[in-house]
Amino acid sequence: MLESLTLGGMVPFSTVDYPGALAAVVFCQGCPWSCPYCHNTHLQTGPAEGPTWSSVLTWLKIRQGLLDAVVFSGGEPTVQPGLREALHQVRAMGYLTGLHTAGCDPKTFGTVLPLLDWVGLDIKAPRTDYDRITGQPGSDAPAWETLNLLLASGLPHQIRTTVHPEWLPPASLDKLDQELLKVGASPTFRQPFRPPV
Ligand code: SF4
Repeated sequence: MLESLTLGGMVPFSTVDYPGALAAVVFCQGCPWSCPYCHNTHLQTGPAEGPTWSSVLTWLKIRQGLLDAVVFSGGEPTVQPGLREALHQVRAMGYLTGLHTAGCDPKTFGTVLPLLDWVGLDIKAPRTDYDRITGQPGSDAPAWETLNLLLASGLPHQIRTTVHPEWLPPASLDKLDQELLKVGASPTFRQPFRPPV
């Protein structure tokens, strides 16, 4: 039996989650990390309160030609067993596919890369600061592995960093930029911290 997606929510129309496209955004439930500035803490743990994936597919069918893209966000989409099948399904309907990820699971990321048209990757900090932010020991390794896969793929993307003055001071941002240069990446897009909703 094919795995489905577990969703914590959905935004039917967005102009800011996929560059240059009108997109629906589905928020996958669950994330293995626990960043203190997370603005979707209700998606980290707890019961899924979003629509069923089958109801989203039905809705997407009647929006064909009116919407350009579907973005899988979270939470963390790459930890969902049903992600690959869901990407196949929306591509078969003619939608562009976007992924927002923190790079928690590079193995899954590698398998879904051929099914993606655009990726927004959060790189949270220089490597030595990673665990302090994510609460997960060794979390820099999967994030950097995901970054390297993304850079090697040539896929259109945005690499971004949430800037919180307490958790990521200017010296850490400078260090991050140096680490990114070493792997051939430009400085990340800085997005200011937003309080949890
Ligand atoms: S990786 Fe993203 S969704 Fe997960 S806790 Fe951190 S900010 Fe929240």
